[in-house]
Amino acid sequence: MSCFKSKYEAELIANAAYIGTPGKGILAADESTGTIGKRLSSINVENVEENRRSLRELLFTTPGALECLSGVILFEETLYQKTHDGKPFVDVLKVGKVLPGIKVDKGTVELPGTNGETTTQGLDGLAERCQKYYAAGARFAKWRAVLKIGPNEPSQLAINDNANGLARYAVICQQNGLVPIVEPEILVDGPHNIDKCADVTERVLAACYKALNDHHVLLEGTLLKPNMVTPGSDSPKVAPEVIAEYTVRALQRTVPAAVPAVVFLSGGQSEEEATLNLNAMNKLKGKKPWSLSFSFGRALQQSTLKAWAGKKENVPKAQKALLTRCKANSQATLGTYKGDAQLGEGAAESLHVKDYKY
Ligand code: 13P
Repeated sequence: MSCFKSKYEAELIANAAYIGTPGKGILAADESTGTIGKRLSSINVENVEENRRSLRELLFTTPGALECLSGVILFEETLYQKTHDGKPFVDVLKVGKVLPGIKVDKGTVELPGTNGETTTQGLDGLAERCQKYYAAGARFAKWRAVLKIGPNEPSQLAINDNANGLARYAVICQQNGLVPIVEPEILVDGPHNIDKCADVTERVLAACYKALNDHHVLLEGTLLKPNMVTPGSDSPKVAPEVIAEYTVRALQRTVPAAVPAVVFLSGGQSEEEATLNLNAMNKLKGKKPWSLSFSFGRALQQSTLKAWAGKKENVPKAQKALLTRCKANSQATLGTYKGDAQLGEGAAESLHVKDYKY
């Protein structure tokens, strides 16, 4: 296997390594207009551009929060938005030493003939979009592939098709200067146990790295965003130490040491649960050639959203909630979180939504 030659090679490697800096992680704030609408409606806020912009301004201008972050994933609309006093969000992030990222997939469609399995769209015109986003300041990208666990799922078709899609996306990003986050999310939905989740996670990750290698992707200039290995949502929960052991073992078996960092999605876990699980992985002794960090969406924003409730006077309270979660997760990347964060409203609440669309 040889990697393709990109004029961006050194930059891709440096940016991927920077995002994996211990003590820092990613805020996923790239909810599409439809998805953010669901979040806003949960606090009775109308889904209009100004409200979406205000929420994102609240997040990006939280005092102290950017120090815990190395990247923020944006939706296209947000990449071009500004603070109320006219500073582009991209500049706010750059000043805070946080790399702007961009969601580039166009969502999922069903694979005909399967039991509701999906493929992710968005490869057509992707190179041109990456060039445009790079010019606007983006330095990394996200593409979410979704797999599910069922009696006969994931099918080999879904595994292969999604691995191939992720590999094509990754190499197109790298040709155009963006570090690709490779995200094969295995949904938590279902009654399966943790062993089943481990088995599926290993099969899916092994297929993804086979495809990434076949497509000549420069692994040093990528990041992996997987699910944690947990029991299904309709199964009894297990301790963070158990999740840590299963998850790290699945990664050891499948993720090459060339990959600088693994940044987990939260996948419907509560804020506190996601932090404790990440902390347990970083406390675990054993072979871990990559840094283990976060790229949380729901598990970073839930208590903030509740505290804000769309009201200007609540901004300081909401920013305090975000800072609490950012600090706790920053500590979790070092394995030093003591489980003592002041829990905001909703911080312990499950954020699981069946068949979640991002
Ligand atoms: P959650 O952390 O809410 O699962 O989302 C992260 C993400 O970006 C999924 O693509």
